[in-house]
Order: sequence, then C-alpha cells, then structure tokens
Amino acid sequence: MTKSVYSFGNGTAEGRAELRELLGGKGANLAEMSNLGLPVPPGFTITTEVCTHYYGDSKGYPENLEAEVKAALEAVEQEMGATFGDAKNPLLVSVRSGARVSMPGMMDTVLNLGLNDETVVGLAERSGDARFAYDSYRRFIQMYSDVVLGVEHYNFEEILELHKEDRGIALDTELDPKDLKVLVGEYKTRVQDELGRPFPQDPWVQLWGAIGAVFDSWMIPRAVTYRRLHDIPGDWGTAVNVQAMVFGNMGEDCATGVAFTRNPSTGERLFYGEWLKNAQGEDVVAGIRTPQPINDDNRTPAQRGLSTLEEEMPGPYRELVRIYKRLEKHYRDMQDIEFTIQRGRLWMLQTRSGKRTVQASVRIAVDMARERLITRDEALLRVDANLLERLLHPTLDPEAERDVLAKGLPASPGAATGIMVLTADEAEVRGKAGQKVVLVRMETSPEDIHGMSAAEGILTARGGMTSHAAVVARGIGKCCVVGCGDLRVDRAAGTIQLGDRLLAAGDSITIDGSTGEVIAGFVPTVTPELDPEFGELMRWADRRRRLGVRTNADTPNDAKVAREFGAEGIGLCRTEHMFFESNRILAVREMILASDAGERLAALEKLLPMQRGDFAGIFRAMEGLPVTIRLLDPPLHEFLPQSDDEVAEVARDLGRETAEIRARIEALSEFNPMLGHRGCRLGITFPEIYRMQVRAIAEAACEVVAVGVKVKPEIMIPLVAHVGELERLRALCRDEIRAVQREHGHRFRYAIGTMIEVPRAVLVADSIAQHADFFSFGTNDLTQMTYALSRDDAGKFLAEYIEQGILDDDPFVSIDEAGIGELIRIGVEKGRETRPDLKVGICGEHGGDAKSVAFCSRIGLDYVSCSPYRVPVARLAAAQAAIEAEAGRPGRKQASRKPARKTRSTARRKTENKKRR
Ligand code: PEP
Ligand code: MG
Repeated sequence: MTKSVYSFGNGTAEGRAELRELLGGKGANLAEMSNLGLPVPPGFTITTEVCTHYYGDSKGYPENLEAEVKAALEAVEQEMGATFGDAKNPLLVSVRSGARVSMPGMMDTVLNLGLNDETVVGLAERSGDARFAYDSYRRFIQMYSDVVLGVEHYNFEEILELHKEDRGIALDTELDPKDLKVLVGEYKTRVQDELGRPFPQDPWVQLWGAIGAVFDSWMIPRAVTYRRLHDIPGDWGTAVNVQAMVFGNMGEDCATGVAFTRNPSTGERLFYGEWLKNAQGEDVVAGIRTPQPINDDNRTPAQRGLSTLEEEMPGPYRELVRIYKRLEKHYRDMQDIEFTIQRGRLWMLQTRSGKRTVQASVRIAVDMARERLITRDEALLRVDANLLERLLHPTLDPEAERDVLAKGLPASPGAATGIMVLTADEAEVRGKAGQKVVLVRMETSPEDIHGMSAAEGILTARGGMTSHAAVVARGIGKCCVVGCGDLRVDRAAGTIQLGDRLLAAGDSITIDGSTGEVIAGFVPTVTPELDPEFGELMRWADRRRRLGVRTNADTPNDAKVAREFGAEGIGLCRTEHMFFESNRILAVREMILASDAGERLAALEKLLPMQRGDFAGIFRAMEGLPVTIRLLDPPLHEFLPQSDDEVAEVARDLGRETAEIRARIEALSEFNPMLGHRGCRLGITFPEIYRMQVRAIAEAACEVVAVGVKVKPEIMIPLVAHVGELERLRALCRDEIRAVQREHGHRFRYAIGTMIEVPRAVLVADSIAQHADFFSFGTNDLTQMTYALSRDDAGKFLAEYIEQGILDDDPFVSIDEAGIGELIRIGVEKGRETRPDLKVGICGEHGGDAKSVAFCSRIGLDYVSCSPYRVPVARLAAAQAAIEAEAGRPGRKQASRKPARKTRSTARRKTENKKRR
C-alpha cells in the first residue's frame, strides 16, 4: 500500500527535502528542519498523491489514509504530552496547505483546531489564561467556519464590532474573558443560523473537515489564477500539513515573526525580519498591527521607536540567528522563515526559499558565489533572465518635482505612475483596456491577485514588508508601497485621503517603490543605476555563453544604450524608421507617389544625405562592430499621406492636382499589404530606392573610414522568397558599393545577406545561401506567415488559445519550437550545407526572450539580436543555455515572459501613428 502520511518532529522525520514533489515545499522543509535537529513542533504531512486521488475519485481518500492519520496523530500526542480532544489537556493542531512551490496566501489554513466547548476549559486551566483560551476558540470558530463551512468572516466581524460598540471598547485586546465567552456563543449561534446545523464539536470531524477544505482550496479561483500567472501545473496538487500548535499569543513572553536571511528587496546580506509580541502568525502578515523590526539593521522610518526582538528577547533572538545561518548554509539559498516564541522558547514553523526582487536575486546570487556557498554557474542559473529587463527600466527622475503626499514602506522597487483605482476588479478592467493604473487599498488580500497583476503598482495603507501586498508584488515584479499610515481609503465615496489632501478615483498618482513615496500626478522617469553585482554577473555570463548578442537599433542613441548594456553589434537597423522624421516624410511621400523614375530620383536625392548622416552616426557609435542595415521593408502605403492637408502638401510640392495624388494613393492600396508590395519586392520593382540606400550606407562608411573609424556594414535584404530576388539585389548592392568606393577612394569590408522570414526561403535556403554571406531569421514574419497568424490582429484571440491550453505561450513572444523552430533548424542546415561558414542569427522579437534565446543557442546560431533593454536578458539566457548544455540538460524549461507583449509590428505601428500625428 502506498504510504500517504509522513511524520516529523523531535529531531527526526520520515520525509526529507528531496521529497518535495510528494510532501510539498512546506512539508519537505519541515521534515528537513526536523532532521537537522531544529525545534519544529511535531506533526505530519498528507502527500500530494492523496490530493490527486481526491480529485480523481470524486473527493474520496485512499483506504489506508484514516489509519495512517490516526497513528501519526498519536505520535504527535506523545511528543507534546497532550491528547487530541482531551478535556483536561487538549492537543491543538494547525492544518495548512503546502504545494511543491510556495503560493503565499493562495490556499487555506486552519489554526487552533481541536477546540470545542470542553477543550477550551482545559486549555484555559492548563495555560492559566482564560482570555487566551477563549480568544483562541473565538478565532478558531471564525477561521474554521469561513474556510471549511463557508460562513464568511464578515459575519463574525459584524458580531465583534457590535459587541465592542455595546461595551464601549475600541481595541480587541480590551475584550475580557467574559466578553470572549459571550462572543463564542454568538459566533456558534450565527453558524447554526446560517447552516441550520451546529458548529462541529468533535475534533475528528473538525480535522477531516479541514483536510478536505485544504484539498478543495487547490481549485479555488485565486489559486487557479496564481498558478496561471506562475506557470504552475494544475495536476501537481497540494499536500496537507497537520502540526501541533505552539502559541505566540499566550502572554508577554510570547511572540511570532517572519524573517528573511537577507534583505528580499535589495539583496543586502543582513538578517531581515518583523515580529509582534503576544500575537499569532497571521497577525504579522495580515497587516493589521504594524510589525516591529527584528533588529536595528532593517528599521524602516515607519518603525521608528518600536523595540526589536534582539532587545526584548535576546536569548531566542540569538538562537534564531544561529538557526538562520545554519538553514542558509544547508539550503545554499536565501530563506524565508517563520517562527513562534512560546513562553520564551523558540519554535521554527517554516523555512523556504525566499521570494525576492530581481535586484535582490542578482545581488544574492553574486554574493553567495563570492562566499563560495554556490558556484558561479549556479549563480548564473539562479537569476530569471527575462526579469533582468525590469532592472534597466526607468525609475522616477530624481530631478523632477515631486508633490509628495505621504510615505509608506518601500516594499518592491521601481516606479508606477497611472490612474488611481480602488478595487481589484476595476484595475483588471482598465488594465485590459490598456490603461496604466495604480491600485490603492487599505490592505490587499489574496482575492485581489487579478487586480494586482493588471496594475502598474500597488499602494496600501496597512501592512509591513512581509504583508500580502508586499510579498505578492515582489513575486510578480510590481512596484509596491505598503504601510502608508497617512492613507485613508473610502471605497464607498471613491476617494482617498492622504494627509490633508483628498484624491478621487481616476486622478493620477505615482508611487516610488524604492523610497516609499506617494506622489500626486504623473512624474517623469530616468534610467536607474545598477548595482556593481549586476555588472559582475554579466561578466560571468559573457565568459560562459557561446552565442553572440547584438541589438536592434535604428538611431545612434539606441546603439549607444545597447552598447552600454553589452551589445556586440547591431543585428537589425530598420531603415524605414528613419523615414518618419517630420523633416523627411514629405520627401518619402514624393518618392512613393512619383509617377516615373525621374520624379522618384529627385525625391531620393533629397533623402540620400539624410540617410547618409544617420548611418554615419550609427557607425561612429558602434566603432567597428558589425552593423546590419536592412533595406526598405514595409508596404509603401504605410508612408502615404492620410489627411487632406497632407495630400495637399504633397500635391503642392510635386506641382500636381490633389485628385491626381488621391488616384495614386488609391492605386497603391492593397488588400493584403503584409503579403503585398513590400520588402525586396520594392527593391526589384524600384531599384533606385535600394540603390540610394546602399549609396548612403557606402558613403557614410567612407566618411567615417576617412577619419579613422572602423566600419563593418552588413547589408540585409528583407522578405526574400526566391533565389532570383537575392541574386539580382546582391549584384545591385555590390555594384553600388564598388562605385562609391571608387569615387571616394576608400575601401572597407562589407557583407551582403538576407533575412529568412518567408517559409519558402527556408525550403530553398541551400540555393539562397549561394548569394548570402549571412542569414538573419525574421521570426516575427516567419511566425506570421507559417502560422497564418496576423501579427497585428492575433492579440484579439490568442489569449483565448492560451487560456484554453491549446498554446502554452504566445508564438510571437516565445519561438514555437515544434513549428517555427523546426523551420529555423531546416533553414540553418540547408544554408550551411551550401556555405559551412554562413553566419546565422535571429532578429525577430524572440531574440530577447530567454526561452527562445536558449533555443537559438541549442541549434547553433551565431547570434541573437534584440532591443537594447533586453540585451542583458539575452546575455544571461545564452550563458544559462551553455551551462545547461554542458550539464547535459539541453531542454531546461525557461519561464516564458508574461503577460504576452505586443509584437514588434504592433508597437512599431503605434509609434509610427504617433509620429505621423
Ligand atoms: C521579423 O519579421 O522578424 C523582423 C525582424 O522584421 P520586422 O519585424 O521589421 O518585420
Ligand atoms: Mg519582417
């Protein structure tokens, strides 16, 4: 028979850390801590296999489960010297979920289980504290009824508030045992009224009810949403941990707290935590009382004047320090720990790998490698490459005026500026509509996860650095400020009060997750400074990767930024982007609307010096690194005049009637522009356009060569489908370059290659390679054309495909390895058959997606090219791929970027429209 229950406690355990899949993260770590001889309250774990059985068997349990639970609970009774359900000396337990990976606050927990009308008397007598016993019973009824019986907690809060009002009491702590007894009675009556049956008194009924509720909570909507956001498979299931209760709320010599072995926000190597005296675990994270700092190293402004655990309970603190160091060494990672001190005795309730910001993950990985706790390769593998981009994104401009209204705790860095919303639902609706919103709440709860993920940032009035809002925001990489004491939220009125200022939902607001500032209005942003550890990690990555990393850049400034991020060249310069400058668009329109080659040449004459200047600027910025310049690609109608004024302007300039221009526009319009007169088809039909561009490139190269700057231009022909296209255009390029070199008396090395972005090009790649020095896979178009999926329209329905599980990822974000990936493989193989030295890269959006970069590395591409801010992502992902390949794990799953970003083309078109306006 399969074993379903694993015991732990008293310096030993049946489980161990490696059994994580079976015992869940919490269960495996409790077992591991017990094995290490750390003080863990005894208990047992019901395996995740039981959860799978539960869902596969209409919520039934394996036959042996009841007997195993009974035996395991007996062991706990013996260890604690108390008996479950005993009227004189009752054992109380907690029942908690525990999936393989932690899902903070997503599933249900029941504490103080085992209390009933009889055992509460025993607990009061044994603890000598009737107030404590009845308060525990009151909390238990509320929690159990909410989680297991479905009687929502507001029922009990209502009763409590009314009772306090009647008695003229403000704080819960002022309730005496008599009050609490009355409340227990009223709570039970409410349960009876709501359910038509009494609150269960039999501890075994309570226990099985709680176990079932934990399994049920695996499927509640917030847990399902969390799994979707974090790529956690639904069939993993959760384990259930039943553990003897220890109490942090039994008096002034009791406490409870949570701590991180290093700062989870910055990564600094300082023990970091929060605690509360005379409190139960949930109080610290619930954010109702402001938690105190564990030591003086991490006191925040809001905690000024609050005493530390180190000062108040030096003995347990010292032991905690000893334990955290041991745990960090044992697990070789930063730990997030929970502890309780009962009557001066320290108990460890949990340890797990701590969630951290990207900034912290980089610093911790590098520090740990320097401390020789992990290897450099491990350090490289510990950072999620896709998240690096966040580190590089702008934060608030320190020079900008800030109308600071209040300050809270800086829980998760970055900056968020947007429209203020007061509910998670509104955040989701507005976020989906493309608005930037900041979610403002008194405190968040796990039900808010959908709104938090849709918002740019989260601001709460209550809570500490380990509150729900802080932990979740850090996990999903959102900027977050918590514990803003001056904030009052009036949801009904749709307003917030910040000090003496009143703001209404819909007003703009800004939060700074690094300083905790809450600011009125929008604030401009700047590029942040990076920790030195970031540079170090990047250097380690560069030593390990074999894939080159270039950038997609169209301006000298983009090129400069990308070089600072480590780009080794430009893999794609889209020349058409230069055409939208306001002083050029007229000449571009004249070029397109020209009725003959003569008119076209006149317009091209105007464009030539402008393009030459652009290219010279880029060559200077790249100082001899390769620069791949793609000749004109998009359908011509994208440049056409739209408004009457624009049409009139072109007509005036060309000395034509507006009707004539309109007729020409009409003639140029296409039913399927993406499959129409674009890419190299323009070069074939209007060779003078490409000739002008090549001349501009060659003249710019001569210009910079003349002043001693090295150049390495690579001319790239887009949308090639037939070898004849490339053969002709290569000759055109070569002839023009030779002519310019002769005219200027300068020579430079150059290459001529092609994009591979049409499926036919892949299939005839062997013949195409006869005329190409390099291939660059344009995976945006290749995906569009292979999948028959419009880059500009797929966003409307792709999400549904992902939701229904047809697709794991948006194929415009991560390369569809089975389909498009296979085509790339074929293209590379065929190309290199003809030319073994063929250089092959990729310049579609996928070049900056970690999972796709790993794929490119595996199939032996020479380089990837991506937007400047994603260059570090590609560098790290390439190193990770090389390490994995060496370790013989070529298929390591890289988390995909979520949510799906717009395709390059959509984004580009947006900018273009803006420019036009
Ligand atoms: C591509 O198609 O992948 C590509 C890089 O070109 P563009 O996005 O400009 O069409
Ligand atoms: Mg393309």
